[in-house]
Amino acid sequence: MIIGVIGAGIAGLTAARKLALAGHEVIIFDKSNGFGGRMATRYAGDQLDIKIDHGTPCFTARSEEFRQFVDELREKGIADVWADHFPYFTGEMTLEKHPDIPVEPHYFAVDGMNQIGKYLSRWVDTRLNTKVNGFTFMGDTVRRKRNWMINFADFSVMEVDAVIVATPAPQAYGLIENTQDETPFKRIIRDIDSISYQPCHSLMVNLGNQPAPEWKAIRCNHKSVRWISNEVSKRGNNGNTIIVVQSSAAFASANIKSEEVSITRSLLGALSEVTGMDTGKPVWSQLHFWKYRNPRNVMSGYFVESENHPAPAALIGDYFGEAGAEGVEAAYLSGFKLAERWLEKYPVSK
Ligand SMILES: Cc1cc2nc3c(=O)[nH]c(=O)nc-3n(C[C@H](O)[C@H](O)[C@H](O)COP(=O)(O)OP(=O)(O)OC[C@H]3O[C@@H](n4cnc5c(N)ncnc54)[C@H](O)[C@@H]3O)c2cc1C
Repeated sequence: MIIGVIGAGIAGLTAARKLALAGHEVIIFDKSNGFGGRMATRYAGDQLDIKIDHGTPCFTARSEEFRQFVDELREKGIADVWADHFPYFTGEMTLEKHPDIPVEPHYFAVDGMNQIGKYLSRWVDTRLNTKVNGFTFMGDTVRRKRNWMINFADFSVMEVDAVIVATPAPQAYGLIENTQDETPFKRIIRDIDSISYQPCHSLMVNLGNQPAPEWKAIRCNHKSVRWISNEVSKRGNNGNTIIVVQSSAAFASANIKSEEVSITRSLLGALSEVTGMDTGKPVWSQLHFWKYRNPRNVMSGYFVESENHPAPAALIGDYFGEAGAEGVEAAYLSGFKLAERWLEKYPVSK
């Protein structure tokens, strides 16, 4: 079976790898120029010796399936434990940890979060810089060789037997809406329309050679900031004190149309307020806006499939929160469980 996967985040890559390893022909498309989606890493401007995780800073692993994958990453030297808890800024003072968040390993990627996506992509035929606009059911009356036609933004097309949509829910909604035959997705469309995401501004800042803080990250109950990462605690970064400030969802929503300089100034002010660091003269800074940081609400189950339809299609991603899974783990489990299901339903013919 030829399977087209839309989205090379951890959900899409996990499903793609498992299906490809079993012998299916899998092609994964991503509109961006890298693997991993929100598990993202950037260089600090033209300083190629400094890597910054401006998306997910770390993740936890509670399920057996995801722990096994994290063990694989640790064996390969790709991931490791970063910390088992982080200080918590209450709004007035900084506690050693958040009183309600369990102490458990939080993992990071040694050479940058995007290396996890890059590792998973080894097993799959990948097409980056390839935006999908929608996909069309080709009909079961005409004797077509393949079920679906994937339509790309550059007006090219590709025929596949099965489609997996592995994007945040609102983007999946857009892709399904563009599908000419909506029938198999009627119920799904209603369900995913109810999922909304929190936005976030990530400010990456190089504070030069001022002493790196002793903390690795701080959870914040601050009107503008939810999280601060000390990237130096992950990798040396040649003596540069690199910090990432993640804004609160309320701040990001209120500042969607604000100018970058004013957002940067506010977040630097908040960084100084929470940590006492001198943020007056950063060597370099860059802002990234995440429209979809994390889902506010999730769907039950691990994935959804098209209903009563001859052509396989499914949706996966971090908005399936079965068994309380969140973030990276939810996305991984979603891709993993769909692949398991499809290997039962569509075994590879030898
Ligand atoms: C700032 C930030 C902090 C976070 N912190 C944490 C944390 O501490 N712990 C945690 O567990 N999780 C965290 N998360 C959430 C976590 O990153 C996500 O839950 C997880 O990475 C989602 O993976 P995914 O594969 O479902 O989606 P994504 O990673 O979003 O992948 C979807 C991919 O689809 C591609 N795509 C979309 N539309 C199209 C199209 N039309 N054509 C082609 N490609 C398309 C996108 O380019 C993207 O690469 C954080 C996220 C952000 C942004």
